[in-house]
Amino acid sequence: MRKNIVAGNWKMNNDLPQTEALITDLKNQNQTSHAEVMIAPSFTNLWHAFEALRQNTIEVVAQNMHFAEKGAYTGEVSASMLKSIGVKTVILGHSERRAYFNETDASLAKKVDAALANGLRVIFCFGEELSDRKSGNEEGVVGGQIQNALFHLGADAFKNIVLAYEPVWAIGTGETASPEQAQDMHAFIRKTLADKYGANIADEVSILYGGSVKPNNAKEIFSKPDVDGGLIGGASLNAEDFFAIVNAF
Ligand code: PGA
Repeated sequence: MRKNIVAGNWKMNNDLPQTEALITDLKNQNQTSHAEVMIAPSFTNLWHAFEALRQNTIEVVAQNMHFAEKGAYTGEVSASMLKSIGVKTVILGHSERRAYFNETDASLAKKVDAALANGLRVIFCFGEELSDRKSGNEEGVVGGQIQNALFHLGADAFKNIVLAYEPVWAIGTGETASPEQAQDMHAFIRKTLADKYGANIADEVSILYGGSVKPNNAKEIFSKPDVDGGLIGGASLNAEDFFAIVNAF
């Protein structure tokens, strides 16, 4: 059976003292669900977070990486650098990376390849904008993003891929997709995978929902059959809120 995952994407929040404080708070929470729990601090705090959570089941993951193995890419971080500090999972293709840092399906395909080649698991994000949904083209956009960035992969690669559907209009806006909208899109995503790779592969891939998941709506969203977890932004910055979401499974 596929895994349930709740991942906290801290984005560009929390300096070192704040990271220490939030991790202390997280360690004091009680997990009553079976979900895998992850947090994604900024690059500067990854090592500290990794060390602080060594004896803990919370996994520390990265928010991004570059596709090149090494070299003259000032300001960038490679897959092998992440691996060398113990990171096993990287988030790729977040809509903020696409919108503000010019990430495209083509560059993301290269990042996915580099991550997988280094043995990292990928949480691959995608999602439509409000204008796409208004024009009824949300499935066209999402299907295209998946196809362009992932369909060059062999079926085996999907053992190390988690998908995260994040409608851009729901991120940080307080507006969530309704549980039905999330379920409809997740079912479409799974069918898209099944059509290409077969139902067995599609059934094993965890598909997370992201976009204004909060303690008061997580249970209903997670109750949908094709929603296997959440990628949490704002609410992951508070330990009680985050674990209320983790425990919504
Ligand atoms: P949000 O962010 O929960 O603050 O809407 C979600 C995300 O960007 O992953």
